Parts: sequence; C-alpha cells; structure tokens
Amino acid sequence: YSNGSAAAVLAPQAAPANVFSLEGQLALVTGGGTGIGLEIARCMATAGATVIITGRREEVLRSAVAELGEAVHYVVNDVTDLGAIDGLVAEVEATYGPLDILVNNAGINLKKPALEVSDEEFSRILHTNLHSVFALTRACASRMLPRGKGVILMISSMAAYYGIDRVVAYAASKSAVEGMVKVLASEFSAHGVRVNAIAPGFIETAMSRTAMNSDPDRRDRAMRRTPMGKFGQPADIGHAAVFLASEAARYITGASLPVDGGNSIGF
Ligand code: NDP
Repeated sequence: YSNGSAAAVLAPQAAPANVFSLEGQLALVTGGGTGIGLEIARCMATAGATVIITGRREEVLRSAVAELGEAVHYVVNDVTDLGAIDGLVAEVEATYGPLDILVNNAGINLKKPALEVSDEEFSRILHTNLHSVFALTRACASRMLPRGKGVILMISSMAAYYGIDRVVAYAASKSAVEGMVKVLASEFSAHGVRVNAIAPGFIETAMSRTAMNSDPDRRDRAMRRTPMGKFGQPADIGHAAVFLASEAARYITGASLPVDGGNSIGF
C-alpha cells in the first residue's frame, strides 16, 4: 500500500470555507433510495460529490435520482449477494472513476423478543447489516489502499451502545460493526483510508416508524431517553456524513459519532 506522506505532521489545512467541500469526489451510498441513505446522498451531492446510490428496488432508486439531480446515479444491487460485490465496485469505477467514499448505510431491523428470534432471522440480519458491510468494505478498501486515499463510513445505531429490548440480532450486528470500525481504522489509516461510524439515535424514517408503530408506548419512551426531546431527521445524519467524509475530518478515524439529540449521554 501507499504510505502517504512521510511527514510526521499534517500540513496546514485549506481555508475553512473549503474544508467541508466534497467537490470532485465519488461516493457510493448503499440503501441510498430512501430514508437516511437518500439524505446522505443529497447532502453529499450538495457538497459537490458525484454519488452512486444502491438498493434492491429499481423504481425507488429511479425516483430518488430524479429528485436528487444529475450528480446522483443508481445501480440496482442487493448487498447480501456477496458474489456480486466485486462486480458492483468494478462497474461503478469503470463507469464513474475511482471511488473516494463508501457509505455502508443499507440495513434492516427485526423487532422481536430474543427467544422468538429464529436462526434464519438472526442470520438474515447479521448477513445484511454485518457480513455484507465487511465484504463491500473489503472490495472498496482493496482499491482505495493502493491509491492511498479513501473514506469509509458505517451507519451504526444507538442499539450498539445500549441494551434496547427486542432488537437482539440488530444490536449484535451494529455492535460488531462498531468493533470492525476500530480494527479497520487501525489497519488502514496509515495508508490514507479513514474509517468511522455514525450512530444515529431516533431518526424519522420508514424503519423507525415501523418500530414505533409496533409498540405504541415506544415513541414516548424514546423521547424520555432523548434530552432534546425530539426525533432527528435523515438530513441530520447526511450533514454528519459530509463532515466525516470531508477534509474537515481528516484527523478523525476509528470514531463513532452519535447523532442522537443527546441519547448517548445515558439514561
Ligand atoms: P430505511 O428502511 O428507510 O432504509 C434502508 C435502506 O436500505 C433502503 O433504501 C433499502 O432499500 C436498503 N436495503 C435494505 N436491504 C438491502 C439490501 N439487501 N441490499 C441493498 N439495499 C438494501 O431505513 P433507515 O433509512 O432508517 O436506515 C438506514 C440505516 O440507518 C440502517 O443501517 C439503519 O440500521 C440505520 N439506523 C436508522 C435509525 C433510525 O432511527 N431510522 C437509527 C439508527 C440506525 P431496498 O429495500 O430497496 O433494498
């Protein structure tokens, strides 16, 4: 791999107005057709990046691209198809050029008491939220490391920090992602590839609405645990992703950034 610069101190940074720009960067955002991924794509495109979004439903991706404008493109892809991952990354790079940013956002949840979770269900959550994240990260990092440049972001969850009942497989997957961030940051950062997580709190999306609707008291409990007393919006995660992908965050790696209205302070 490239060793980057031999200098032991980072060079002085550009003027503050420029350090949040993603101008000229290429980003891949999994699950970018809806919810948090859609807003990450929108925020990154607004910051100047070309963004490729993925997901399983072409009609969802097509309407997202129509909404987000000409800097955003889509590729239909199921992240759980591990055999298709190298092909996805190769296709994106052949069409759009070298990838600078990977956002592992696609994820699924399952709300059930632990004793009711089947092996099949547990495997399905771990496969989508963890194994495919590793496989796609490996495929992208193997290209980024020789170039000495890249940013990898994981969308984790408060469920990685706390015991939230009835999300045993989801919490296991997100905790494992948090562990993976530290190892990958340790292995990659000297070679110019930073790895970080964003841990959203309660964000208003289809996923959180489904979880809340399955348990009427859950919204009140969630708000009691959130010092700001409000749900966040997907764009709050999008802005954090732009920051972590930008030069403004060039000395941040191996971190997990809560974006949660204070939820992670504890309760
Ligand atoms: P959504 O359900 O709105 O979005 C999930 C996205 O992932 C969809 O676009 C879906 O597209 C895609 N996806 C799911 N499975 C696959 C797959 N196998 N292959 C490719 N794409 C897939 O949820 P959110 O936006 O809320 O969640 C986004 C991320 O944020 C997830 O990782 C979630 O765990 C995390 N998160 C969300 C929180 C919240 O409060 N909303 C809180 C903490 C974390 P399609 O179905 O078309 O494939």
